Amino acid sequence: MRNIRIFDTTLRDGEQSPGASMNTSEKLQVAKQLARLGVDIIEAGFAIASPDDFNAIKTIGGEVEGPVICSLARAREEDIKRAWEALEDAPNKRIHTFHSTSDIHLKFQYRIDRDEALKRSVKMVQLAKSYVEDVEFSPMDATRTDIGYLCEVIEAVIEAGAITVNIPDTVGYTIPNEFGTLIKSIRDRVKNIDNAVIAVHCHNDLGLATSNSLSAVLNGAGQIECTINGIGERAGNCAMEEVVMALRTRKDLFNADTNIVTEEITRSSRLVSTITGMTVQPNKAIVGANAFAHESGIHQDGLLKNKSTYEIITPETIGLHKTQFVLGKHSGRNAFRTRLSELGYDLTNDEINNAFVRFKKIADQKKDIFDEDIEALVNEEVTMVTETFSLVDMNFSSGTDKQPVATVKIKIGSEIVEKTEQGDGPVDAIFKAITTITGTKSKLLKYEVKAITGGTDALGEVICSLEEDDTSVSGHGADTDIMTASAKAYINALNKLAARKS
Ligand SMILES: [Zn+2]
Repeated sequence: MRNIRIFDTTLRDGEQSPGASMNTSEKLQVAKQLARLGVDIIEAGFAIASPDDFNAIKTIGGEVEGPVICSLARAREEDIKRAWEALEDAPNKRIHTFHSTSDIHLKFQYRIDRDEALKRSVKMVQLAKSYVEDVEFSPMDATRTDIGYLCEVIEAVIEAGAITVNIPDTVGYTIPNEFGTLIKSIRDRVKNIDNAVIAVHCHNDLGLATSNSLSAVLNGAGQIECTINGIGERAGNCAMEEVVMALRTRKDLFNADTNIVTEEITRSSRLVSTITGMTVQPNKAIVGANAFAHESGIHQDGLLKNKSTYEIITPETIGLHKTQFVLGKHSGRNAFRTRLSELGYDLTNDEINNAFVRFKKIADQKKDIFDEDIEALVNEEVTMVTETFSLVDMNFSSGTDKQPVATVKIKIGSEIVEKTEQGDGPVDAIFKAITTITGTKSKLLKYEVKAITGGTDALGEVICSLEEDDTSVSGHGADTDIMTASAKAYINALNKLAARKS
């Protein structure tokens, strides 16, 4: 049985999804979860891209144990040096450097010839190798590169010290059969290929990222680059949960498996969705809300008789358990803390205390508290930033024949500011009042409400994405009252924007 390495790029390529930017503490939470999930390599960012990226890589390298921590770097001296500095504290580190190899990119974007691109690639792999043992090289736009030249570059970078060569389908152009043949040709034509692991990095522009990655595995690839929920540039990357569960479910065909602890898949998916504000479509394979919902009478009949009639994966395999009542009004801090650690959260005492205060408040309004409610509370806690604005109080009124009006009180520093506004609906009125108080110039990109569990006393969860000066953030709020949840989400997003500026 071959072991396929999982290289997770949720924090780098995933973060390039529009509206999915994460701050350092959010990235750290995701990285800790990726470690529990058992990924082999975490691409934590692109060190030279921004001070935020640099700090996130440095923090993750210093605090997350288990996986190799990796930084992306263009084939430039300053990039590689910066990647090395960011990775300094990581016990296991990798520099991932890349250069375009397709004629389209070389001619129109880089304006250099093939020889020059080859020279730069080799030189920068050698430089990276002088810092770390573990060097990965990607010939960008590989699937549109002349195969003879591609093999020449791969051979040269392996000779220069790359121990992983990644074949990216940068523009999501290839199809499974063609991509499998490409991987096979590389294995047949590159003399020193056995000195490196072949990786693949597929994009989903044609909906083929998972299929292309699997086809590569069948033809000898030993590492898959992917993201949680398939988020990423444009149509996204290969989805970790899909590729891992395909390998696991069809071991008989692939004769390969990964180190992923599949029971952590659901929690990883929810955490990334909450933090990035990118919700998962209900019919998404593996992690969609309907992925295990059987609607047809014939199917239900079969399932009652024997699960294997219509179920190829059990929900438990991916850590999806039947919603069950877990805690209530009388549960104490200890029961709460125990449940948090059973759910896999690793929180500081302060974070536990703050979440517990909110838990008690919700337990007063809602009889039974479910795991999903606790997850929402905790996710709200971990996505919290230093509060420039905090909600003190809020009132609104609306009705079928009544103009909605809202009064909001917000604390800014030591001052409390109050404003009343009218709107098209109560949420509109509340948001207008918050906008007037905070004076924000941001644009609302997305507003989304969902119920976390069943029943009319369910917690409502609101995700609110804002954009200002090319920075986008997602705020998060949970409450039994969806108007309060909306206000919290909007204010949380404004606090994140303020934290970025400071
Ligand atoms: Zn990519």
